[in-house]
Amino acid sequence: MTTKGAKASGRGGLEKTIRNAVKKYGSPLMLINREALRQQYERFTRYLPDVTPYYAIKANPHPEIIKTFVKLGAGFDVASAVEMNQVLSLGASPDKVIFANTIKSNRDIAEAYKKKVRFMTFDNEPELYKIAKYCPGAGVLVRIKVSNIGSTVELSLKFGADPDQSVFLLRKAKSLGLKPAGVSFHVGSQCTNVENYLQALEVSAAIFNEAERYGLKLDTLDIGGGFPIRHFDSDNHITFKDMAKHLRKKLRRLFAKDTNFIAEPGRFFAGLAGTLITQVVGRTFRNNKNYYYLNDGVYADFSGIVFDHCRYEFKTLRRGQKFLSTLAGPTCDSFDTISISEDLPELEVGNIVYVKNIGAYSCASAVPGFNGFPPAKIIMV
Ligand SMILES: *Cc1c(COP(=O)(O)O)cnc(C)c1O
Repeated sequence: MTTKGAKASGRGGLEKTIRNAVKKYGSPLMLINREALRQQYERFTRYLPDVTPYYAIKANPHPEIIKTFVKLGAGFDVASAVEMNQVLSLGASPDKVIFANTIKSNRDIAEAYKKKVRFMTFDNEPELYKIAKYCPGAGVLVRIKVSNIGSTVELSLKFGADPDQSVFLLRKAKSLGLKPAGVSFHVGSQCTNVENYLQALEVSAAIFNEAERYGLKLDTLDIGGGFPIRHFDSDNHITFKDMAKHLRKKLRRLFAKDTNFIAEPGRFFAGLAGTLITQVVGRTFRNNKNYYYLNDGVYADFSGIVFDHCRYEFKTLRRGQKFLSTLAGPTCDSFDTISISEDLPELEVGNIVYVKNIGAYSCASAVPGFNGFPPAKIIMV
């Protein structure tokens, strides 16, 4: 009873916040909740106390989000000089930044050197020559190809050295005057299959051992991102808490106590903090269902439907009988269809449709202004 009551008041509270925000700012709106950012950081560091998180800012590079994580003491995962300079200008310390794109331009590598960012990943030999030339002495992690089974977003198709080649590559790094520091991997984004992590840890440990036989003492393990969040209230995949329990056990069993463990959470840090609020700008009835046209779509804050392979839970402030509905974005393009089968109550022009847990891979990958439609205004709450 109590839980139910609390939940109901929680929803009522959110609905009130949404109504007030739309009154004040109009829509589309992306509310970013600072407290949710802090909670996710706390959750991460509570359940994986030996792992230092480096927030992968590609999930959402909003300056207030970066500043929040700077204050909390997180490190940062950046993929370009632009991202690197962004976190540095917002107060991140260069020694808490990892340049975690295995393919970097010479110019970006040189910029890292200039800004004293000396920690990067690679997965191929030509990259090592570039790093040795433009960022001499850098610490490098070999990114290995690992299983991405069951993750929503596959990353192993584009990145990762064959584990069999890893020690060769790390020795090559050493011969070029670089510091071979260890291993990194990414199990795929929104990974609900803990086996991906556990297998990757086994493979990484084997590389640590093989390297040691060649006289290379590796000291850093980067377990990447991929940590899942609940996009739907009904999602019942493994919780982070349970996932972390498996990881802690494995890390303790396979690696030396003084290993420097790091991770690169993106979605897990930013996803739950974002609530997107849109309004119906037009409606019709066709193909035997309701069509609602929203003022935000696939080109802007719902870009995750395309790039993140993500599905969202659409909510309204209306109650009553639900009907099969299509949701579409505002642009003159059929591709800008958000969903063709949602059960929604009857909506009028002006009614609100909102989505929770959409803080990651949404506004970050939007094409702002396509066809003259602005993306959601971002408001910190
Ligand atoms: C995208 C990315 C991340 C973040 O992944 P999430 O699944 O959002 O946690 C971390 N590291 C690298 C190298 C990435 O490309």
